[in-house]
Amino acid sequence: MSRQRTVPQNYVFCPICGKGKIIMEDPDSDDVPLRLILPKSKKKAHWYIKCTVCKSQIGIAPKN
Ligand SMILES: [Zn+2]
Repeated sequence: MSRQRTVPQNYVFCPICGKGKIIMEDPDSDDVPLRLILPKSKKKAHWYIKCTVCKSQIGIAPKN
């Protein structure tokens, strides 16, 4: 019978500390052109997420 699909377990890790799992991604999805923006960067981010480990604010912006 049909096997149930497992929950995606791929993570994008925090670029600052490398430990915090900041985004969970589905490995089967198409590549989404997103760019992580570090707190020091002058580039504008559209969204911000906070790393639960080092508390850094990581920006996310669409790549184009
Ligand atoms: Zn971190």
